[in-house]
Amino acid sequence: MKMNAVVLEKHQHLVYKQVPIPALKPGEVRIAVKYCGVCGTDLHIVYDGSLRYPHIPGHEITGVVVEAADEEGDGLIGKEVTAYGIIGCGHCIHCQNKDYSKCQSYTFVGAARDGGFAEYVNYPARNVIPLAGLSLRSGALIEPTAVTVHAIRLLREIPKSSVVIGTGPIGLLAAQALRAMGTQDTVVVGFSDRKAELVRSLGFGFVNCTKESVAERLAARGYADGVPAVLECSGQVTGLNCALNAASPGGEVVMVGIFESDVLLDAKACHGILRKELRVFGSWISSHSAGQNDSDWCVAMDLIRCGKIDTEQMITSEIELQDVPAALEQLHSARGADIKTLIHV
Ligand SMILES: [Zn+2]
Ligand SMILES: [Zn+2]
Repeated sequence: MKMNAVVLEKHQHLVYKQVPIPALKPGEVRIAVKYCGVCGTDLHIVYDGSLRYPHIPGHEITGVVVEAADEEGDGLIGKEVTAYGIIGCGHCIHCQNKDYSKCQSYTFVGAARDGGFAEYVNYPARNVIPLAGLSLRSGALIEPTAVTVHAIRLLREIPKSSVVIGTGPIGLLAAQALRAMGTQDTVVVGFSDRKAELVRSLGFGFVNCTKESVAERLAARGYADGVPAVLECSGQVTGLNCALNAASPGGEVVMVGIFESDVLLDAKACHGILRKELRVFGSWISSHSAGQNDSDWCVAMDLIRCGKIDTEQMITSEIELQDVPAALEQLHSARGADIKTLIHV
């Protein structure tokens, strides 16, 4: 049996082709993919290097469970679902605590094993989450939303005011998730004016840090000392400098954006970590386990379900599976112009 898939055959070489449908391993289910979001990580895998070739990227999926290897997944057959990409080693202390993002030897669907740029993808049944009425289209945004929920939950408390650095999908979802979880005022910092209107229409302040002083704009908004929590979602050194400068004394800076090169911080920003006694820490993906009702994924689903996260405004294009190689090439060359591209399978 064969399926259509988008395969990364070698470095930067994506091909739409037929491949064998992968066999189910014990405990797994097969999902007929309906939507798969394109993530910055997918572009990274295609254009900066993959752990393996040939490889099928994609981890922001929704679909319908069509087959189960055994009784573990039998109850999921026919259900509309999404799935959590981290498959923990199952043995370490973090896996035992269901804190899978801290497992140091997990497998990630769409990275170390084949993902959702295909008609079918296999997941362990315990990673599969029924959409329970949420649409297949909105459901594709649960994974990136859960990434932001995870970062926000690492903060000491939900801040009254915050700054989010970056206007990609994670930055825009983070600002919305903060508001949904209780933050009253969020300023989003971007590196161009491309997303200014959208950010303002979502109800947030916007500063283009290449043109204006973030400190001055924050002071004008009543935050002369900065804000108590900053989420760095750009993965750029300018963004991290900005984040450190925007945090108030005793504040927290969460690093969410993935850095792809060495980081040399400004002396002033670096000094601020000490002088302001900042708490600077990282956040990695998200956590979920079957039956865990308060996981990052469950919170993310609730926020989308009640409309506090506007998924439709985040989805800027929808493409078909065969268009993926050309569309990714375009996304890569015009990085940042789009928000979320969904692949419709
Ligand atoms: Zn993602
Ligand atoms: Zn583990």
